[in-house]
Amino acid sequence: MTDFALPDLEYDVFELEPHISGRIVELHHDKHHRAYVDGANKALKSLAEARATGQFDKLAALERALAFNASGHILHSIYWRNLSPDGGGQPDGDLFDAINEGFGTFDRFKKQMIEAASTTMGSGWAALVLEPVSARLLVVQIHDHQSVTIQGAMPLMVLDAWEHAYYLQYQTAKEKYFDAIWNLWNWEDIDARFAVAKDVDLLLGDASTRPTKPDWLPSGDASSLPAD
Ligand code: FE
Repeated sequence: MTDFALPDLEYDVFELEPHISGRIVELHHDKHHRAYVDGANKALKSLAEARATGQFDKLAALERALAFNASGHILHSIYWRNLSPDGGGQPDGDLFDAINEGFGTFDRFKKQMIEAASTTMGSGWAALVLEPVSARLLVVQIHDHQSVTIQGAMPLMVLDAWEHAYYLQYQTAKEKYFDAIWNLWNWEDIDARFAVAKDVDLLLGDASTRPTKPDWLPSGDASSLPAD
């Protein structure tokens, strides 16, 4: 087992300019993201101490701290890789087809993502997720880093709507940030997540629970599972 660790960025902080300023990326990654990593590790350590001493009086608070900080770390880790100085445009292949199937058109999907990010109450995220039980792409609104989520839904593309993600550059004009970020989406990364997520079968091959089987879904029925 390893502790949570802050991942390095795969680009220099200024490379996302002019869409996201280098100073924002620097503070966001080095300070905010690091705080979630540290918070998650601290919660794990406190839980281990509670187990060792049998003192679970602070268990509920520790579980809340772990959920908040670990989720913050995971979402930010995805966010950094979702973005690229060479990003933008639209996806192609299966992901493009699945977005069209799920949302009608790419443009409607984009509008829903922006709307979900813009209307998050307090701090939160908009995310494109694959909900594996119904094999459905959804846009969800995440409160803080972990509330209003669907259990098992896998984040493919996450849009940080916390003020720390844009305020230094855009102040109250957050819609400009939500617009500019479409020049940075790394569809190769998002597509790679989609390819992994669509193989996940939370119900272990119970095909009867899937009312429809999209073309992009790999064979997920019980007969395709390994015999052992
Ligand atoms: Fe953030």
